[in-house]
Amino acid sequence: MTEEVGKNINTKKASGQVPAEPAPVTNFIRNIVDEDLAAGKNDGRIMTRFPPEPNGYLHIGHAKSICLNFGLASDYNGLCNLRFDDTNPTKEEVEYVESIKEDVKWLGFDWGKRLYYASDYFDRLYDYAVQLIKKGKAYICSLSAEEIRKLRGTLTEPGKESPDRSRSIEENLDIFERMRKGEFKDGTHVLRAKIDMSSPNLNMRDPVIYRILHADHHRTGGKWCVYPLYDFAHGLSDSIEGVTHSICTLEFEDHRPLYDWLLNELEIFHPQQIEFARLNLNYTVMSKRKLLELVEEGLVSGWDDPRIPTISGLRRRGYTPEAIRTFCERIGVAKSNSVVDMALLEYCIREDLNRRAPRVMGVLHPLKVVIDNYPEGMVEEFDAVNNPEDPSTGTRKVPFSRVLYIEQDDFREDPPKKFFRLSLGSEVRLKSAYYIACVNIVKDEKTGEVTELHCTYDPNTRGGFSTDGRMVKGTLHWVSDAHSVEAEVRLYDRLFTKANPADDKDGHDFKEFINQASLEVLRSCRIEPSVAGALPGSIYQFERTGYFCVDRDSSANAIVFNRTVTLRDSWAKIESAQKK
Ligand code: ATP
Ligand code: MG
Repeated sequence: MTEEVGKNINTKKASGQVPAEPAPVTNFIRNIVDEDLAAGKNDGRIMTRFPPEPNGYLHIGHAKSICLNFGLASDYNGLCNLRFDDTNPTKEEVEYVESIKEDVKWLGFDWGKRLYYASDYFDRLYDYAVQLIKKGKAYICSLSAEEIRKLRGTLTEPGKESPDRSRSIEENLDIFERMRKGEFKDGTHVLRAKIDMSSPNLNMRDPVIYRILHADHHRTGGKWCVYPLYDFAHGLSDSIEGVTHSICTLEFEDHRPLYDWLLNELEIFHPQQIEFARLNLNYTVMSKRKLLELVEEGLVSGWDDPRIPTISGLRRRGYTPEAIRTFCERIGVAKSNSVVDMALLEYCIREDLNRRAPRVMGVLHPLKVVIDNYPEGMVEEFDAVNNPEDPSTGTRKVPFSRVLYIEQDDFREDPPKKFFRLSLGSEVRLKSAYYIACVNIVKDEKTGEVTELHCTYDPNTRGGFSTDGRMVKGTLHWVSDAHSVEAEVRLYDRLFTKANPADDKDGHDFKEFINQASLEVLRSCRIEPSVAGALPGSIYQFERTGYFCVDRDSSANAIVFNRTVTLRDSWAKIESAQKK
């Protein structure tokens, strides 16, 4: 089923009315690009790439990288490639490749015909490795992984050379060829770049660039049993594609000397690696490995659980591509790591949906209201404004009858000061309908809980306006018992109780901080009939409660909503201010 914003809104038209996203703010990467263009570098050509490893679903951090890479290319009339960095056959799956393509498209970016895979370059990468051997710049090392690690040294101590470092070029070529042919078991030999075992940079101490791995690859099948390591494959793939600016996250800063060394030794086209600070968000985790743990251990319902920051989770929750792009623009691009507050992401989606989501009335915790003086069997239809922010969306009919529901919270038996909602003897407006006054309360004899209100309506307040100038302070949302549809509504809270669950000082596992109350399911909500038949992905504002998105678990006779985000609840603020 297709995604759409509210079934009764013309999405195209609506998006046309959204003011343009903020003009790109300049940043240090743009400055570098500007300088390169001014200097005539690469004949004025700009090419970037987004290089995911297909070992999980994309998250909001990847969105930052996608917006940056595709955004730069489009702003500078350049191109951006989508390249799967698929050099690790044991962790990669076709499912991830497909989900990544879908998410990049959904975010609004287009790689055109430039969909590439590092695995497409395996032959060329192998040839490059042979060239390095021939140049005396790479050698076969037959130490175990453990021995290699020990000889590598530390930040304060230089490493020691492998006894195999002086192997002849002929012998290196011979063993490498036999590795490829499958003559050796996993781990018996590796190919290492011959750089400098006493370099202060550990990445330059003869890094491993090829390993033996008898594993089928999701694209090349059983063709290879030697695979290049990430650092080797990445820069060379950039070069093969003609990428001009290879933008990556800060952890790769220490890898740049190796990136440059390989390109220089091979004397091939030399892209420029530029590092920026990755996005971190509080109250969540963002590494694919951790997200995979949550999924595999059933702690969330899947990669698209609306509580996790995957693109598919955010989409299911009701986030729009526009809001995510605006968020990425607002957080900017910096050179030092920081943590962004989840509240900023929520601000961006509220701002977008406020402009675009049609309003409806939905009661999450229904309290029955009987209008004693309203004729039994009578039904009136009131015109309600679809979106006050967008008059072109017009109005819809909302049916009114004798038995209604309002929100339990909108009634208080003992109203505190400044409680302008309903209480015994008080009068409020039912939005777009009538003024009503509460005349009587029915309670459950055992629990004392209020189960039903009896009210009277004033026929002279049709549409919610009095003819005698009488004012009421409270306006409540409501639905008609006979006409509303029953819905399940899923309310989400932060998935973690700790701002930074992945970085606990006492070494606790991040999963120990899962918020047990992060999902609350309400099963007997009542929503006005205009939402009947809405497709999954349709997003509404429920007046006064928040934004809600139809979930894919909905069926023809049972509609399920995910709460995307609350509106700021003004009463909760007043009440907590009063308590202080
Ligand atoms: P993770 O650490 O979440 O597993 P990753 O870096 O291993 O992510 P890749 O598939 O290698 O995931 O990432 C693809 C691109 O997205 C890389 O260029 C990487 O730098 C970028 N990226 C990943 N996480 C973030 C983030 N949090 N903020 C910005 N860019 C990111
Ligand atoms: Mg990675």
